[in-house]
Amino acid sequence: MSSPLMARPGARFECFSDGLCCTDIHALGPITPKEARAMRKRVKGSVIHQENVDALCMRPGPDGACAQREAGLCGVHKNFGAEAKPDGCRRFPYGLLHTPEGNRVTTEHRCPCRTLGDRRPLSLQDAARSLSDPKGQLEVDHWAPEKVPVSAGRMIPFAEYRWHEQAMIRRLLAGELAEDVLCAEVLPVLHKKTWPVLAAGFYDMDDHTAGGTALSWFGDALLHLNTGHVRPTRPRPWEPSFKNAIARCTRREDPEKVINDWVADELWMMRWNDWDCTFDVARAELATRLAVVRHLTAQIRARKVRGDQAAAEAVMISEVSACSEHWADVVSYMANDPSPAAPLH
Ligand code: SF4
Repeated sequence: MSSPLMARPGARFECFSDGLCCTDIHALGPITPKEARAMRKRVKGSVIHQENVDALCMRPGPDGACAQREAGLCGVHKNFGAEAKPDGCRRFPYGLLHTPEGNRVTTEHRCPCRTLGDRRPLSLQDAARSLSDPKGQLEVDHWAPEKVPVSAGRMIPFAEYRWHEQAMIRRLLAGELAEDVLCAEVLPVLHKKTWPVLAAGFYDMDDHTAGGTALSWFGDALLHLNTGHVRPTRPRPWEPSFKNAIARCTRREDPEKVINDWVADELWMMRWNDWDCTFDVARAELATRLAVVRHLTAQIRARKVRGDQAAAEAVMISEVSACSEHWADVVSYMANDPSPAAPLH
């Protein structure tokens, strides 16, 4: 692929093996049948068919973490080399968005190595290694359109959209309040569903894994924001990985920075493009998740967790929820005319 690789200005990432990515905060896969065959040859019984995602995945151990994890590190990597890991493991937390102006390296924020501590600026070399197939070819995850739908019936060329998007990212990096930058309605009025019903949908998906627990936290927050209802406290099974991150931090980060960095990356990765919605709906979607992040940060801080860790955990919960099919449905219910966001200027 000839397009240049681009990192978002200000993006920082370094793998410190904090360990969350190898746990049931998400499915340990899916992995392809070819990868499964190779993995089973290396380690008998290392791959299972995971019912809840109907896909081949790495086998979790009794604690929910991948059974191949050895002393917090990847045993496959240690014993057989980085190339032996399934594609998803090799790529995480990177992704590749192809745009008309080049290939953007994106990063997931459900990884404390991405959200907390003294990280070096994102290395394009490192990203290219993770994002390439065994033959060294870059593999694209998502495609941005030539013409971007910004509101009902209005499309603009990608270059014009990018101008707006860059201005928003610049404001976030300058420390402006993310709510002001997004300028969109939180929990917009829905015509076909109610927010409590949609919140309950997250409880239905809770399979008692760490990821399922995160979905329930997200449902609690939506319910609280809509009705004021307060649920009993829930466990935080992901806490050990965040404690690992805090142990290596030499200073406390401003929680606002953790949040703005995440919002900037959500814009940069154009996650909303996969939901087939317009950019103003995307801004309302993100403003709603931002409100959830604010609420969850306060909830977690109330448990005597420091601010940057609480914000990073809240961002992780929000991102896990955005990856669910249910959130894609929620976004489709938000698609509304008149728009739930102020027009772009
Ligand atoms: S194979 Fe390695 S990188 Fe992948 S989930 Fe298991 S321990 Fe983690």
